[in-house]
Formats: sequence, structure tokens, C-alpha cells
Amino acid sequence: AIDVQDLHKYFGDNEVLKGIDFHVAHGQVVCVIGPSGSGKSTLLRCVNMLETPTSGRIFVEGAEITDPDADVDKLRARIGMVFQQFNLFPHMTVLRNLTIAQEKVKGRKKDQAVEIARANLAKVGLSEKESAYPAHLSGGQAQRVAIARALSMDPDMMLFDEPTSALDPELVGDVLAVMKDLASEGMTMMVVTHEMGFAREVGDNLVFMDDGVIMEEGDPREVLADPRHERTRSFLSKVL
Ligand code: ATP
Ligand code: MG
Repeated sequence: AIDVQDLHKYFGDNEVLKGIDFHVAHGQVVCVIGPSGSGKSTLLRCVNMLETPTSGRIFVEGAEITDPDADVDKLRARIGMVFQQFNLFPHMTVLRNLTIAQEKVKGRKKDQAVEIARANLAKVGLSEKESAYPAHLSGGQAQRVAIARALSMDPDMMLFDEPTSALDPELVGDVLAVMKDLASEGMTMMVVTHEMGFAREVGDNLVFMDDGVIMEEGDPREVLADPRHERTRSFLSKVL
């Protein structure tokens, strides 16, 4: 579970998050939508402390990650993150991309890391690519490898920041299918996306951010079909 309480974030004088409160229950999928610059990525990056909040509190599975005494590395290791750009190590094979952090961060023995990596590659449908280098993968395959890599660390929850936005349209479906499988297995997920179909079908909750605040949230079907706020309506009319 993720709990965010009165989160504020400034970059210099620019207040980018203006008091955000929300909760992601265990096993829930929350989708976050909103215009460019509204603070979606900053919010996600604050949740795993890639950005330091200016004020407010964030709890990950009940432990406060914003506590000055928190073991941030340890808490962050419980959160898998997948970005728009896949950030695979280009000079390593797919398999090595999946084992290196298991060995270095989790202290797993090589054999065990390989076994876990192979299980996760199978899960994303890419067993046959274990010896390939990232440059030889399609964008959709690279993103699925990035997901398998995150899963190999046994995260309690996964954060996705526009995981399909850099992909050719015909490759988007494969990545969304993997994410849908994860959701149905009960993974707690926070997903910044423009894929309204995914939000409607898979999301338990939809959050609309605008200019650093949560303007509206609720059941995705209701928010998409009948938004309460004019800002939400206007945004949706541009993306739907
Ligand atoms: P997009 O849909 O384009 O990805 P977003 O909703 O993810 O947008 P953010 O990336 O969170 O928006 O950015 C919110 C605001 O914070 C923007 O005005 C951006 O310029 C600013 N910002 C983000 N990161 C930094 C940074 N490292 N330093 C200064 N300003 C930043
Ligand atoms: Mg962003």
C-alpha cells in the first residue's frame, strides 16, 4: 500500500505539487492522468524518493519513507519502477540485465538470480531473448524486459511512468497485456498513462492531476464517462 499525505514539492520557487493526498490499497491499480507538466512524474518519483518531497509524508507498506531516519534504499528496493525510456544496460545481455541487481543489491547467488530472471522472462513472453542485447529488441520487447527486470527484485508494488508512450502503436498492446496480468495477480500498481482503455479496464481508481493538485478521482468508468470538473472534461475531450 502507498499513502501520500499533504505532499508538496518545489523546484526552486516553482511549486509543482501543491498538497497531494491519496492512497493506493494493497493489490489496487491506480492510474494517473493529466496534462503535460501537471506533476505526474514528480509525484511518482517522490513515492520512491527519486525526488525529495519539500513537505508531507509518504508511507510505503506502512513504513514512512519520508522519515529522516528511514532506510530509504531498503524501502525503495520494495518498489519497482518502469519508465517511458527502458533504461536497460546496453552492453549487457537481457539475462544479465535481469540478474545484476539481484546479485549486487539482493545478494543472490548467480544460479538463483538466473532462475528468477528466467521465470520473469517467461512471464513477459521473452524467454527466447535471454542472450540478446537491448539494441536488438523492439521497443515493446525492451519495455517487457524492463518490467521483468523490476519484477526480479520481488517488489511489493510497481510504479509505471508512461510505459507505452515511446512505443509504436502496434507494440503497445503487448506491454499493456503484461501489466494487466500483473494487476490480475494482485500487484499494487501506480500507473501514469494516456491509455484510457487500460485505465477503464484495469484501474481500480483514476486520478486526474492538473497543475500540481488532484482535481478529481474515482472509479475510472465514472470519471471517464462523466467527469465532475470542467478541467477534467476538457482534458478528456483532447485525449479520448
Ligand atoms: P509530462 O506529461 O510531460 O510527463 P508531468 O505531469 O509528468 O508531465 P512533471 O515532469 O512532474 O510533469 O513536471 C511538473 C513540473 O515540474 C514541470 O513544470 C516541470 O518543468 C517541473 N520539473 C520537473 N522536474 C524538474 C526538475 N528536476 N527541476 C526543475 N523543474 C522540474
Ligand atoms: Mg511525466
